[in-house]
Amino acid sequence: MRGSTWVLPAILALSVAGAAVKSAGAFLYGSRSLFVDSLTCFANLVAVAATTHFYRVSLEPPDIDHHFGHYRLGYGGTIVSMLAYAFVAGIAVSTLLQSESYEVHISATWMAVAGLVLYSGAIFLAHKFGSFLKAYAVFTVSEVIESLVVVAASSGGALVNYRIDLAGAAVITAYIFIELYGTGKNVITCLSDVAPPPHFVERVKEVVESHGFRLVSVKLRKVSENLTHGDLVLRPEGLRLEEAVKRTKDVKELLKKEFNLDCSVELTI
Ligand SMILES: [Zn+2]
Repeated sequence: MRGSTWVLPAILALSVAGAAVKSAGAFLYGSRSLFVDSLTCFANLVAVAATTHFYRVSLEPPDIDHHFGHYRLGYGGTIVSMLAYAFVAGIAVSTLLQSESYEVHISATWMAVAGLVLYSGAIFLAHKFGSFLKAYAVFTVSEVIESLVVVAASSGGALVNYRIDLAGAAVITAYIFIELYGTGKNVITCLSDVAPPPHFVERVKEVVESHGFRLVSVKLRKVSENLTHGDLVLRPEGLRLEEAVKRTKDVKELLKKEFNLDCSVELTI
């Protein structure tokens, strides 16, 4: 990770301040759209903590209980994030169902604006420093979009009718469920031993054939976003055993280096 040591604490401080401002605004000034928005801020903080923790764990080298390494523990961050968002989605639905008339004070809008400024600061820093923090910037952009919805909804709720504020709360709640669906679908696919795209398999075949082998069978599965595992069965085309064994080693090394493909190779006749 590039960037100085103050960056991560600064991003966290801005995010915590953003969450605090939004929830204070929701409680003091009665906006339900701001309340639902503040719930997602807390889910976002849980998501950041979980993603950071599991990302670090996923980089641990292989050990006695994880012979292939810890890559898939990286999905722990996604799963914990989904649990946090699903929990706040439940609270949001119950808030929407308590739909008796209420009053929104225009100050709620200003609190939403303050939240927007704080989160924009966090995203700016996260985007500026390093690849891992960029992921945070991407999924925190939703906080900015939510803030914009709340600014519109809470001002409408304060100046026109509370139902506009309630509609804003419903939009943000619906958005949480859409995000949960998308993330859930993605993580299930990733955990399903999904194969890499056909052009990846084609390139593996090219490497194998350029070393004097025929690719008899290939089984590949993605372990994480960047890492693929596989089993290859190769037939040496007119190579002596010693040469075939040496070239097998070369093929394995090249596949690891070029495609981050970790594979077992079986030679056949
Ligand atoms: Zn382990």
